[in-house]
Amino acid sequence: MFAARSYQLFINGKWRAGSEGVTLPVTNPATEKTVASVAAASASDLDEALASAERSRKAWSSGPAKERGEILVAAARILAAKVPAAAKDLAAEQGKTIAEAAGEYARAVETLDWNGTHAEELSAAIPMGPNRMIVPEPLGVVAAFTPWNYPAVLIARKLAPALAAGCPVILKGAEETPSVAVHIVEALREAGLPEGVVNLVFGVPAQISRHLLNSPIVKVLTFTGSTAVGKELAKLAATNLQRCILELGGHSPVVVCEDADLTKAVPAIAEYKFECAGQSCNAPSRILVARPLYQEFLSRMTETARKINIGAPDDPATQMGPMANARRIEAMQRLTKDATDRGARIETGGARLEQPGFYWPPTILTGVPKEAKVLQEEPFGPILTVAPFDTIEEAIEEANATEYGLAAYFFTASADAKRELIGGLAAGAVSVNYLKGVSADAPYGGVKQSGYGYEGGEHGVRSFQNLKLVNGLGSFG
Ligand code: NAD
Repeated sequence: MFAARSYQLFINGKWRAGSEGVTLPVTNPATEKTVASVAAASASDLDEALASAERSRKAWSSGPAKERGEILVAAARILAAKVPAAAKDLAAEQGKTIAEAAGEYARAVETLDWNGTHAEELSAAIPMGPNRMIVPEPLGVVAAFTPWNYPAVLIARKLAPALAAGCPVILKGAEETPSVAVHIVEALREAGLPEGVVNLVFGVPAQISRHLLNSPIVKVLTFTGSTAVGKELAKLAATNLQRCILELGGHSPVVVCEDADLTKAVPAIAEYKFECAGQSCNAPSRILVARPLYQEFLSRMTETARKINIGAPDDPATQMGPMANARRIEAMQRLTKDATDRGARIETGGARLEQPGFYWPPTILTGVPKEAKVLQEEPFGPILTVAPFDTIEEAIEEANATEYGLAAYFFTASADAKRELIGGLAAGAVSVNYLKGVSADAPYGGVKQSGYGYEGGEHGVRSFQNLKLVNGLGSFG
């Protein structure tokens, strides 16, 4: 059934093939078989998308924000009804379980709804005393680039606030998981989004980003992906000084203090780490454990990891599916070999499963020397390192010893330790005694090489606005 699928571009309000007829294959990571194809946009398709977005801009940006919000809320309802089928498509293209895919879609629905509900209030003028006010204005056409790991929620976190703010969007969906962008854009179309306000393209990522960012029509760049690609895009955006929101890599630490409750910490870490086979920018990847708890933590964590049921995404018994593509398996092999060559020990996992599909088991490494690549490079997979520490200061130093600064987590009951860790951990977000990622209503962004700008909540909408300061209101009488 999937072999028959062919996903198209959406330009100027119409689904259509690329003008040069080029398509790219879509692979099911559980079988390594082609399950669909996706149209690739040519330069002329991209020019059409740019022109179409620009034509729609005036009416969309100057129309009532309340109506924009109503379209988003309606799209949320329409998408919610598509979730059972859409989650199966996502699982077949990405490798996450159907339950994980449905959970992700639920968060995408919530994101559309939140931004729709708040569109009017976040587009309203903000008084600043008797003489001044801020008038939020949409910045203009947005180029949005989204990856394959959480395609539904990451598309929603770009599209929904940009649309709420009054900006048209040219969205490049991930070629690996095209069904997701298609389902979300179709929900918006069915909800009554005017033509041209969202254009969806796929193709060769570097060609598309270069073409779009080269155009002065584009005023904002929003990207989620690796730090290396984010920096390339920021350089391209410099030519036209497009505003950038870059949500890049992460290498998140978890500090498990001496008083931590392991009955809570171990399952919470395992659940968050191994969701989506660890391919999440804010998944924990380096666990630092107070020395008195170290052995007990390691044996519980290893036992929990070994029990995780690995299998096909559409098998309800599966707890962790395959990795998304062969590149991730190669990265797991390279990082594991580098660590063991330098003396690290594999507590569990450590080798690809001998079966079709990109299956890599939960892997725990100990005794990993500081120079090992797995402690520096974002693993983006189900590999955890575990190491002991002696003082909170030492744990903070270790936790901060990567170039990334996206998320950090810790477990303790002590108010002093909480204060010290919240202040000391260099991260865009810190979670205490549980692991939590993004939510529709709160800002989320990285520091250091994890990027800049915010997605989520009010700040997510403000990212697409010019906050025009109006002075001297009193002088108008
Ligand atoms: P990649 O960096 O090549 O691609 C990541 C995403 O960026 C993909 O969706 C891709 O289509 C897009 N992309 C790549 N080059 C682009 C360009 N020049 N212009 C526009 N978009 C471009 O890497 P990959 O092999 O697909 O994924 C591996 C790495 O990417 C991971 O190690 C991780 O660091 C990073 N990644 C991060 C996130 C995240 O949520 N922050 C998501 C996916 C991938």
